[in-house]
Amino acid sequence: CGIVGYVGPRDSQAILLAGLARLEYRGYDSAGVAVIDGNGDLGMRKRAGKLKVLRDDLEANPLADGTTGIGHTRWATHGGPTDTNAHPHLADDDKLAVIHNGIIENFSEIKADLLSEGCTFRSETDTEAAAILLGREYAASGGDLEAAFRAVVSRLEGAFTLLAMHEDHPGLVVGARRNSPLVIGLGEGENFLGSDVAAFVEHTRNALAIGQDQIVSITPGAVTVTDFFGEPVEVEPFEVLWDA
Ligand code: GLU
Repeated sequence: CGIVGYVGPRDSQAILLAGLARLEYRGYDSAGVAVIDGNGDLGMRKRAGKLKVLRDDLEANPLADGTTGIGHTRWATHGGPTDTNAHPHLADDDKLAVIHNGIIENFSEIKADLLSEGCTFRSETDTEAAAILLGREYAASGGDLEAAFRAVVSRLEGAFTLLAMHEDHPGLVVGARRNSPLVIGLGEGENFLGSDVAAFVEHTRNALAIGQDQIVSITPGAVTVTDFFGEPVEVEPFEVLWDA
């Protein structure tokens, strides 16, 4: 339902939680974050309930700080609102974290294929099928997250904004969208992704709209946008005018 991503020099957890709070108006039943910490390890926390439940949990049991992170508020469509079904979801290497808005219409076919190949599932979500598939394509591509996205989006039907990051690539968040929104926020030495500009409006007013069927990569110093086949595309810069 709500999506935020961050790469830059600052602690991402505070930025993710503030972004998710700004996206609360959309409604949600669960919330979660994942960050890559200073040792290059992926940490994740996700809880059913209000953002406060997640925030209190993080206060009681802090996750190590990390400057690369993704955050999600979920409006459950497949699988009830539980901690396990909340996003992020992990690929089977436990190093790749994925968040998703929308519905993957053909997830049961993909899940059946993955189950027959011996994959195990932890949740009842459609999202986890995409997460596990992404992990397999990541391995098959020799560790190229953008190539993995290109392979995965060609198999997905329905509506999705997907963001992912991998432990082996701190400082990189990759996303893709079809029939579901995604915008980039351009900072100084830091960049943001959001399901809408509310996710990052307190940090930057410079934004890029992502078109239908596009893949985006952000690092602290660069932004790349391609179509689903990897061809670079023109993106439309705009200034966020409304008051934060
Ligand atoms: N279909 C996904 C789920 O049920 C994502 C829902 C959303 O957009 O929040 O987990």
